[in-house]
Amino acid sequence: MITYRRNEKVSAFTTSGQFRRFGGWLKRPADLQYLQGCVSADVIVIGAGFAGLSTALELTARGAKVIVIEQEFAGFGASGRNAGYLAGSMGLEFELFVKKVGHDQAKQIVSFYDAGVPYVENRLIELGIDCDYNSSGVIRAAVHPSQEKRLRKSMAVGLELGSVTRFVDQVEMRERGIPPAFLFGTFQQLGGTLDPGKYVLGLRRAAILAGVQLYEQTPLLSYSEGPTITCKTARGSASAPYMVLATNAFTPQLGVLHNKVVPFRVSAIETEPLSAAQLDSLGWQGREGIVTPHITMESHRLTARNTLVLTTKQLSYVYGSKTPNEPDDSAYKALSLALNERFPTLRGLGIQSCWSGYVSMAYDALPVVGALEAQNNILYTAGCSGHGVATQSLMGRLLTERICGIENPLLTALHHKTPAMLPEPLQWCALNAGLTAANWFDQWTNRRARKAAAST
Ligand SMILES: Cc1cc2nc3c(=O)[nH]c(=O)nc-3n(C[C@H](O)[C@H](O)[C@H](O)COP(=O)(O)OP(=O)(O)OC[C@H]3O[C@@H](n4cnc5c(N)ncnc54)[C@H](O)[C@@H]3O)c2cc1C
Repeated sequence: MITYRRNEKVSAFTTSGQFRRFGGWLKRPADLQYLQGCVSADVIVIGAGFAGLSTALELTARGAKVIVIEQEFAGFGASGRNAGYLAGSMGLEFELFVKKVGHDQAKQIVSFYDAGVPYVENRLIELGIDCDYNSSGVIRAAVHPSQEKRLRKSMAVGLELGSVTRFVDQVEMRERGIPPAFLFGTFQQLGGTLDPGKYVLGLRRAAILAGVQLYEQTPLLSYSEGPTITCKTARGSASAPYMVLATNAFTPQLGVLHNKVVPFRVSAIETEPLSAAQLDSLGWQGREGIVTPHITMESHRLTARNTLVLTTKQLSYVYGSKTPNEPDDSAYKALSLALNERFPTLRGLGIQSCWSGYVSMAYDALPVVGALEAQNNILYTAGCSGHGVATQSLMGRLLTERICGIENPLLTALHHKTPAMLPEPLQWCALNAGLTAANWFDQWTNRRARKAAAST
């Protein structure tokens, strides 16, 4: 048993038993094929997450021959490990966006985020992917009255930019059966939750069926630039006139965008399935995805298998933008504490798995999309900032159109100058100072919420 100050008890777990190297949603597929020999295509896509697979599918549908090169297997990255919120623009850093690019462009960026949701909803139908999608919308819910000001401010700026949300008071929250730790919030009736493992494996299946040459367990080692790009891997090579880097948080390790994005580790825990009695006692009939307005948000959702998945709450940055696939015990403990505090009636519910993954983020929290070098034939997409289920999927269409010579206004909206990162060790110091401050502030809010709960 792990015991916290003030005698808050947290369900016992040891990461040796519960840690999942590939996340809690999927297993490594059995039919992996790696690249051997020399192959060629119209486009090479590096990375088989939402962005890479979506790009490959869109290109193939337009008649292109596409190769996808993936270092492990489809869904190994954030796409197979996330919380499964198919969310639009709610809760974005609206004020930061306006400061950075101005009101008009910020409005277009909000449209980009919102457009990702119907894009994925349509693709699930077109591709016949069943991933337990629940179009419940998402609630950003406060755990202490002190969060109201921040919530309302964000909602007001968001509304000015076209992000449609509305305030949900305590009465409606209770009517919806939202657990009482979540006091009030803002609601966006767009998107909902899905099983990201089923979604990404559905994209993988669709890509293979469509004729995409998918090479897994094939890390890209290096590539040469020019009118024809050649990618070197351990046992072969691939060449094409275009390449798309859909490598997200791993991109800096390729020597690309290392001064534009940083990887942040995000962690998750999943409980054992709730019994019928526990589900009944919870209410929460609409199973809306819940996020909180903490500086580093908490996310709480029910899955189709009746477990609770909690993510985020505590981020970390590894020196040198590294992305080790290892447990983050401190984050799992923080999430376990959140589980007990937000769901006190479920005390004692065991944790069946925990995992971590990496998102990529720019200093301005905006997407980082563009082309490298004079040839304009190496495209990249990164900087999802933890909001990529919808947008990185949509990016597949936008990048495909760009390769076909069409600039979609939603892609144009993302053009801006990404601020440069600090060199190490300054970056490590600055990011950790920021994360510690955020953590401190959030813990202060949580202490107040605890105190308020104890006095009722
Ligand atoms: C715990 C967690 C919770 C999250 N929750 C949400 C959520 O609820 N909603 C939401 O919208 N977003 C969420 N996100 C973010 C979301 O998962 C990502 O934005 C999205 O999956 C990014 O997709 P992608 O295809 O760009 O990148 P990834 O899925 O990371 O794919 C990149 C791929 O590139 C491969 N690769 C890297 N380097 C190489 C190489 N050298 N050679 C070959 N292949 C390589 C990797 O193996 C990987 O498969 C969350 C992320 C995490 C980690």
